[in-house]
Amino acid sequence: MKYAIPLFNIPTIDVAGQSSSFPVHRIYCVGRNYAAHAREMGSDPKREPPCFFTKPGDSVVANGSQVPYPSATENLHHEVELVVAIGKDALNISADKAKGIIFGYAVGNDLTRRDLQAQAKKLAQPWDVAKGFDHSAPITAIHPVEKVGHLEKGEIWLKVNDDMRQHGHIEDMVWSIPEVIEALSKLFRLIPGDLIFTGTPAGVGALSPGDKVEGCVEGLDILKHTVV
Ligand code: MN
Repeated sequence: MKYAIPLFNIPTIDVAGQSSSFPVHRIYCVGRNYAAHAREMGSDPKREPPCFFTKPGDSVVANGSQVPYPSATENLHHEVELVVAIGKDALNISADKAKGIIFGYAVGNDLTRRDLQAQAKKLAQPWDVAKGFDHSAPITAIHPVEKVGHLEKGEIWLKVNDDMRQHGHIEDMVWSIPEVIEALSKLFRLIPGDLIFTGTPAGVGALSPGDKVEGCVEGLDILKHTVV
């Protein structure tokens, strides 16, 4: 294939214990998937249909990297999340079959320009500039299901400069991972390379340049990055 412009790089994430990497296609995210976080954001955590938004695939940042403080915000927030990596095609898949398309799991930080998100909500505008900026998706290596099994319960936490800011349990998701996959696959054809950020527990807050961030989901790696 000849291209009219230089071809961009395909974004990739490491796979734990393998020399091969995971190419990233799309990044889907679930909003308000823990009741306590929905309440802290001023929403009613009753089971409304899951709320989805996206980030560009090339917003991923490898574990251990420095993350530049983004432009156009004075309120950058952390959101530690369990991330699902998709390994098979799926359209209209039912929740009882959904686990079969999961390649593995990782820990991600759904970095958010909270001031721009608040403005978008107020003006009934989309969230792209609040959520989908460059370097907005730091993520650990993916742990394949064949090694770690399916993650259904366990602690999820995030520390800033060694202070615990977020602490919850993945079993407290409003929509379970199979239910999220079922709902998403009615809207989009999922393909190998897609990632799903599954929502954040309570305790989101601001980050400043110089902050050291660590986040984890039990059974996976510790996500580490500094804000510069
Ligand atoms: Mn989030």
